[in-house]
Amino acid sequence: MQDYQAPAELLKNRIILVTGAGDGIGRAAAKTFAAYGATVLLVGRTIKKLEAVYDEIEAAGHPQPAICPINLEGATSKDYDDLANTIQQEFGRLDGLLHNAGQLGTLTPIEQYDTETWNKLLQVNLTAPFLMTQALIPLLRESGDASVIFTSSSVGRKARAYWGAYAVSKFGTEGLMQVLADELDDEHNNIRVNSINPGATRTNMRAHAYPAENPIHNPTPEQIMPVYLYLMGSDSQGVTGQMFDAQKKQP
Ligand code: NDP
Repeated sequence: MQDYQAPAELLKNRIILVTGAGDGIGRAAAKTFAAYGATVLLVGRTIKKLEAVYDEIEAAGHPQPAICPINLEGATSKDYDDLANTIQQEFGRLDGLLHNAGQLGTLTPIEQYDTETWNKLLQVNLTAPFLMTQALIPLLRESGDASVIFTSSSVGRKARAYWGAYAVSKFGTEGLMQVLADELDDEHNNIRVNSINPGATRTNMRAHAYPAENPIHNPTPEQIMPVYLYLMGSDSQGVTGQMFDAQKKQP
């Protein structure tokens, strides 16, 4: 899917929510989806960053996005119900949901792993996507052709020492993706559910995880967008429960 070439109007009239839309991969995804015609709901915790993305999308003449400030660390079911009600009132449906926001925590042996950091990581990376998805499923059903994408990691498929709660949260993310995909896999729902491992990508998170690495060797978020477009658009209809790698050629 690295080679996927999206038609110019792939996402025309689609309503797509992106979490962590203010920075890194989420920022690139929000701008890319808008460039292909989507109305993008920008979810994140730093309003200034979301406003900057909003301005860039507007300046480029793409469909007007919307800003939905949510801190995934403290958000409750009620916050997600409020989000769902707002989307219901404004659009009546949701066509795409990209769970992208995430935190790295610390690279620490399990023996010394701090409980507070553990709980925060599981909350932001795993529980928040669960709660948000639960609240938004009725709106996704209204789409008739909806796509949910979870963001994984290579350590969410094969764990490595010191990656602690981050790796565990990404294994959980793959589990959530598979359970949900299986539950929704019928014609009545028309909701496909998949995960993407972005692979090493030039963002702040990567720089924190690998401070000694020269970032120039990693692709930019914009360069890994083909698989995100493929899964958000109608060319992936019927594809569900699959794990994708943004930087590998799919068989
Ligand atoms: P960045 O750190 O650059 O961006 C993360 C985004 O998540 C930011 O917009 C951040 O908002 C948001 N976020 C973090 N915590 C919260 C919160 N509590 N509430 C709301 N939003 C929050 O990371 P990347 O772009 O690199 O990562 C994106 C996804 O890709 C993550 O899930 C990550 O695990 C995954 N990934 C990344 C890889 C890489 O090499 N970059 C490799 C494998 C997976 P703010 O800016 O306001 O803090």
